[in-house]
Amino acid sequence: MSFFTGIPVAPPIEVFHMNKLFMDETSPDKVNLTIGAYRTEEGKPWVLPVVREAERQIAADETLNHEYLPVLGLDAFCKAATGLLLGNDNKAIQEGRAIGVQCLSGTGSLRMGAEFLSRVMGLKTAYLSNPTWGNHKLVFKVAGFETIKEYTYWDPANRAVNIEQMIADLQQAPEKSVVVLHGCAHNPTGMDPTHDEWKRIAQVIKDRHLFTFFDIAYQGFASGDPDSDAWPIRYFLDQGLEMFVAQSFAKNFGLYNERVGNLTVVFNDKSAIAGFSSQMSLVVRANWSNPPAHGARVVAKVLGDPELRKSWHEAIKTMSDRIKQMRAALRSNLEALGTPGKWDHITKMIGLFSYTGLTPEQVDHLVKKHKVFLLSDGRINICGLNTKNVEYVAKAIDETVRS
Ligand code: PMP
Repeated sequence: MSFFTGIPVAPPIEVFHMNKLFMDETSPDKVNLTIGAYRTEEGKPWVLPVVREAERQIAADETLNHEYLPVLGLDAFCKAATGLLLGNDNKAIQEGRAIGVQCLSGTGSLRMGAEFLSRVMGLKTAYLSNPTWGNHKLVFKVAGFETIKEYTYWDPANRAVNIEQMIADLQQAPEKSVVVLHGCAHNPTGMDPTHDEWKRIAQVIKDRHLFTFFDIAYQGFASGDPDSDAWPIRYFLDQGLEMFVAQSFAKNFGLYNERVGNLTVVFNDKSAIAGFSSQMSLVVRANWSNPPAHGARVVAKVLGDPELRKSWHEAIKTMSDRIKQMRAALRSNLEALGTPGKWDHITKMIGLFSYTGLTPEQVDHLVKKHKVFLLSDGRINICGLNTKNVEYVAKAIDETVRS
């Protein structure tokens, strides 16, 4: 007899499963467009030079030690992260109504926020984008949300945001539902609402008394400009909306495995902060008790030093420019081949991903015949492309679409 007998095997996590299939593939032509991580033109991970420099400075600083951080995180990091998100001159920061809680990357920030809303505030209904990042549903479910609904986001025929249906769906949401919004570079579609569309979304959230939970995993990485990527969040604040924002520093600092994240919380009434912080301390305490220091120190140092911050801006520009070049290259290769269909959406989309519009059968064909690995919903990571393989990928898509 074993306590463990009969545990059912859970379905694989698609993105890691496809990545493994890629790793196991022996064809020299194989291309990995699966996992959401930056790759250089040489197909290699990139440690940002500014991160290396900050790490050197931290390693040389003998005043630092390995004592526990406070439960709610490294103060300098939380302030720097909140300032990056809202803008240091933001009214909510000036008035002491915005605080940060250091969490384990974007996922941990979402989880702490969701757990707080569900267990402490008793909110039990969440609205997620359809489609959305593969982990949102699991995080909200495990955090105690009883009803998880979807709002329409995508118009597959026009490869655009379906704003009319999105607004109509949110209009049906019961009061105090939590609405999860992608701050920028929507995953998986790569298509964001326009500023006018964001204004309509903010209005319905206000009218229906819904709670805003932004997830921003790509600030600065998406457009190269952290301020313009944060526009929707700052606009919602100007409209007087309170909110949670889950921030990740995995992509924009390349600190994937350091698990650096921040949950920014904005209150209309700052007298609520004492209750919030005390209760949030218990939520964190029951999860990881105290957060890790290294990545938070790196981010705090870079954002707090004008020279290092400038280098960081250069690095995010390098990454976002390469992505834009690869978008343009894929589109122009497909158009040169006369591949049936329209391909302009590839350059209209921003961030790491493109929702190509390829069907699951076409994806299967691309994987099996051409060894081009992507997700079954047709999402590709643009960073997997480089000047050496983009033509091969375009030809593979062309053959697939025609067959
Ligand atoms: N939200 C979205 C939309 C994402 O794409 C990601 C990364 N794939 C995350 C959150 C969180 O990632 P991490 O926990 O690595 O910061």
